[in-house]
Amino acid sequence: MISITKKIEFEAAHRLSSYDGPCREIHGHTYKLEVTVSGQDLNETDMILDFKTLKKIIKTAILDQFDHSLILKDNTENRLFLTNYPGKIFWMETEPTGERMILVMVQLIHSLLPQSIRLDQVVLYETSNSYLTWKNNKG
Ligand SMILES: [Zn+2]
Repeated sequence: MISITKKIEFEAAHRLSSYDGPCREIHGHTYKLEVTVSGQDLNETDMILDFKTLKKIIKTAILDQFDHSLILKDNTENRLFLTNYPGKIFWMETEPTGERMILVMVQLIHSLLPQSIRLDQVVLYETSNSYLTWKNNKG
């Protein structure tokens, strides 16, 4: 089994509307994401997956959705003050905590991976000192 990892960075803003503290305000992060996938078999080009293909998948799954976006919980308060906002908003069913965001990202990446490739781990850095790790616990 060989695993490969691709790292990307993106800029986004979010707010935790029900949080009692400064994260209630709209604020930005330079998010860093590390995506690790693995596979048993090498393909016709002697790779488990071309880094270029993984990069494309992460672009479609993550960057197209989240880069330079405003990430918000879809609730009345947020809808009210952003009704006329013409920019890029990623609406979530939940508060956009790192935990909820990484779970959404895992789903988005997983849906685009070839069947022979396993999503092993996703690490999401909110800051250089604070990050979350999702690990695939299924065998
Ligand atoms: Zn934040």
